[in-house]
Amino acid sequence: MSDETLLIHCNNCGGERVQHVRATHVVRRELEIHEGGWQASEATTYRTLQCGGCETASLREDYWYSEVDLNTTTYYPPHVTRKMPSWVYRLRPFFPETKQAEYMFKLFKEIYAAIEVEAYALAAMGVRAMLEHVMVSTVGDKGTFAKNLAAFTEAGHVTTRQQDRLEKILDVGNAAIHRAYMPGQSDVFTSLDIAEHVVSSIYIHDDDVATVSDRVPKRS
Ligand SMILES: [Zn+2]
Repeated sequence: MSDETLLIHCNNCGGERVQHVRATHVVRRELEIHEGGWQASEATTYRTLQCGGCETASLREDYWYSEVDLNTTTYYPPHVTRKMPSWVYRLRPFFPETKQAEYMFKLFKEIYAAIEVEAYALAAMGVRAMLEHVMVSTVGDKGTFAKNLAAFTEAGHVTTRQQDRLEKILDVGNAAIHRAYMPGQSDVFTSLDIAEHVVSSIYIHDDDVATVSDRVPKRS
């Protein structure tokens, strides 16, 4: 076993960690570019990594080509810049129909998967679809997006200030769909901050508070 260590991002720990190289395997190929002419070579080095913090394993692939500066490094699974919150797994009971619950869960997963591959326009569209779904399943479908948002606010799920923020972030998804706008990472991260806050405060925080309240002895 090698003693080699590398400082690399760990998806599980959510930051850079010392990773132990547990195994290395190199695949080298000699390439003949022109018949009877020049030779070039390429090599792919595979390293099995184990995080020194959480012990999770991953694979690093380094590609090298002798003739051009083509070195690339790929990680499996890809590095996650934005981790899906664990409370997403607790959303299921809040959606009466299995189909609805599955839709929410899959949509959440696809939004974070889109971010992993820098598909920010798709992620923004996903955030919009997810919030729309939350509004419709809480206050019913009022016909238009603006009316759904107004009813959502009137029902007290968000404050007027939050309504204004929601309107703005939902417009990022709308612009990506209808106005050929390609949002960047920060646009999507901000949208997701607000969306996560709204969803967790509607479903998860109420549930957590009810659990705390059940534990508190009642006044006699
Ligand atoms: Zn780790």
